[in-house]
Amino acid sequence: MTSAEERRYAGAGHRNGGGAVKGFVHKDCSRHPSLNDSLEGEIQAFLTDEDQLHTYDDLTKVNPVTPTTVLKCLRARYRVKVFYTNAGCTLVALNPFQPIPDLYSLDVMKEYHSASQPQEFKPHIFIVAEEAYRNVQGQLEPVNQSLVVSGESGAGKTWTSRCLMKYYATVAASSSVVKSQNTVERIERRVLDSNPIMEAFGNACTLRNNNSSRFGKYIQLQLDRCQLLVGASVQTYLLEKTRVACQPAHERNFHIFYQMMKGATDEQRKEWKMPHGQRLVWLPKAEKIVEEDCFHETVEAMVHLGINKERQRQLFGILAGLLQLGNVNFSSSTDESQPCDIEEQSQDFLQRAAELLCVPAEELQTCLRVRTLKAGKQSVLKPCSQAECSMRRDCLAKVTYAHLFEWLVTFINNSICADKSTWCNFIGVLDVYGFECFQVNNLEQLCINYANEKLQQHFVAHYLRAQQEEYVSEGLQWSFVKYQDNQSCLDLIEGSPVSVFTLLNEASRLNRTSDAKTFRVRLEKELSDNVNISWDKFSEVPHFTVAHYAGKVDYQIQGMVDKNKDPVPPELIDLLQKSGNSLLHKMFTDNETENLMKKGLSKVTVVSKFKNSLESLMKILHGTTPHYTRCIKPNPDCKPLTFQKEEVVMQLEACGIVETIHISAAGFPIRIPFSSFIQRYGLIAKYSRFPFRELLYWSAGLFSFSFTSSFNLDADNSDMLHQEVEKLLRVVSQLQA
Ligand code: ATP
Ligand code: MG
Repeated sequence: MTSAEERRYAGAGHRNGGGAVKGFVHKDCSRHPSLNDSLEGEIQAFLTDEDQLHTYDDLTKVNPVTPTTVLKCLRARYRVKVFYTNAGCTLVALNPFQPIPDLYSLDVMKEYHSASQPQEFKPHIFIVAEEAYRNVQGQLEPVNQSLVVSGESGAGKTWTSRCLMKYYATVAASSSVVKSQNTVERIERRVLDSNPIMEAFGNACTLRNNNSSRFGKYIQLQLDRCQLLVGASVQTYLLEKTRVACQPAHERNFHIFYQMMKGATDEQRKEWKMPHGQRLVWLPKAEKIVEEDCFHETVEAMVHLGINKERQRQLFGILAGLLQLGNVNFSSSTDESQPCDIEEQSQDFLQRAAELLCVPAEELQTCLRVRTLKAGKQSVLKPCSQAECSMRRDCLAKVTYAHLFEWLVTFINNSICADKSTWCNFIGVLDVYGFECFQVNNLEQLCINYANEKLQQHFVAHYLRAQQEEYVSEGLQWSFVKYQDNQSCLDLIEGSPVSVFTLLNEASRLNRTSDAKTFRVRLEKELSDNVNISWDKFSEVPHFTVAHYAGKVDYQIQGMVDKNKDPVPPELIDLLQKSGNSLLHKMFTDNETENLMKKGLSKVTVVSKFKNSLESLMKILHGTTPHYTRCIKPNPDCKPLTFQKEEVVMQLEACGIVETIHISAAGFPIRIPFSSFIQRYGLIAKYSRFPFRELLYWSAGLFSFSFTSSFNLDADNSDMLHQEVEKLLRVVSQLQA
């Protein structure tokens, strides 16, 4: 078989394979017990023909659908290097952790794009891409599309998003050019070039992924009337800015710093005051071997996007300044009325940091060591403790890096966004952090898991509800499937009048910072009616536990209110606004929030900001037709072609894949577009004297329902229809002969 033929859908062989779905309809979609000791036992009881397992292109076809059977099917496919599998409306993508030659080549893209029926190919991310692309030109009017890619860290979300972007940059290339500041580039090149820049500044090597995205991203690919790519825009979410000043053990800072260290010329090193061999505290080495850091690729992409040499110089100057700042330490002070001193050996670093950030060293020193308290019109100076000085140093780095990232995103958008008059539709690609549950979880995990709850709700609302409504509107016989609704968990986190978020905001507003126990008691008093929250009252560490749709997570309360306030001392903003580095100056003066913050007028907390940005995202998603891809990480060590069942089953549970399959299997998972059905079987209508009355009735009926988009079949009917029709066609062709 040629590789093209192999990609093709296995046709009758697949559909009839094992007769797997006879009479198997789930009405109960409650969660399934997790896979534990009974794993192997359950596997033994697996009914489907084992040798055929890898041929199941759709998990709705395995029988019975349990975490174990689904797992076994995925494992069988992974063993034969098949990485994509459908799960009803969702595509499951297993990470091979090694390059697969030819799976994503230009030829393959073209093949999927030119196919008359791409759905007849084996599952692949390009089918999802192509389906979305074709859907844009809806039956009645164009429809915007969203490709939602989810999965845990290292599962392959960013890889998949890049694949999707490359696909559209190839099949929808408009070849239009954009000009800015001496550069002329093709738009699709620019759109792709935004990736290495965003990854250099927003990704880092973590214990779970050498190229872990530390922010969420939604990119809209803008299409003109001819469906050609004419521009794009990026929206980012919750950058993990703390990493710049504080890297978890055995993890690294953002890639860009290492790229600078490795790729700098001697001249640049001199300019950045980074002699060879200098030890920089904020640049820890990871124990893992990290792929070649590609400074030149990042710089080249910057040039393509129109970031000129001078801006680059300013930008790298700021980053180099932050690295020097990381080496500044403070000595403890015995006299509380005196500020802590900067350690003797840190003086040079402070001097260099000030020079690189283009601020007066004296003022930088004062800002780090002395707090200005406003009492009416009077200002009182208060020396900071050693811990406070370090906090101010870290805060300076965090706020600078976050603003730099924001500036970059705005720049990229200005560079790739098409004029509103030139585009009419978009395909959005969402690459957001998956559900997180660590040993210690705090505000970051609460926000991330809240985002996942929102996406799950969107999935449930859109797919499951919409599917059922469609059946009703088409007059199909159907009893409603009960699905797990996560509204009560969302009410707990974001609801009003009281929820975790409102209580956090209240504590932040009232300056109730330190007392975690009081906050826990308040949560208990206000939220104990909600079944999704619990706590261990006797625990030493104040915490609360949230029962998410994907599992329970303990959140530690200590530090949460402070993180939510995310205060930036006004003196620091003042200082940065005075910077002689015009980029740094611009970053802190153009921003309205900054000015409000400086005046102490802004009360926007982290959770409020995140909730608002997520709500805008949900609004956009609701206006689009979504396509879901769930990436799965088959082993925790990122080893090529290694499948660990415990690892996979946890992820299947976390993304609710088994529920999805149940609902798809219980419904009508096979949707044949009318046009293809008629093309293939329309001929039958002519032979109505043949004894397949019911079938003929169906197909005749189809002609009069041609205004809807697809013909829904349940799995049983599909098998039967397929067999019967094949028989019929044989008879017909004999007759014709
Ligand atoms: P995070 O949430 O940490 O950002 P992620 O889900 O975005 O994780 P990726 O960075 O996309 O994960 O993938 C991790 C690594 O897995 C990639 O760097 C790449 O080496 C490998 N990988 C992912 N998908 C594929 C694939 N389809 N083929 C080959 N390798 C892949
Ligand atoms: Mg990623």
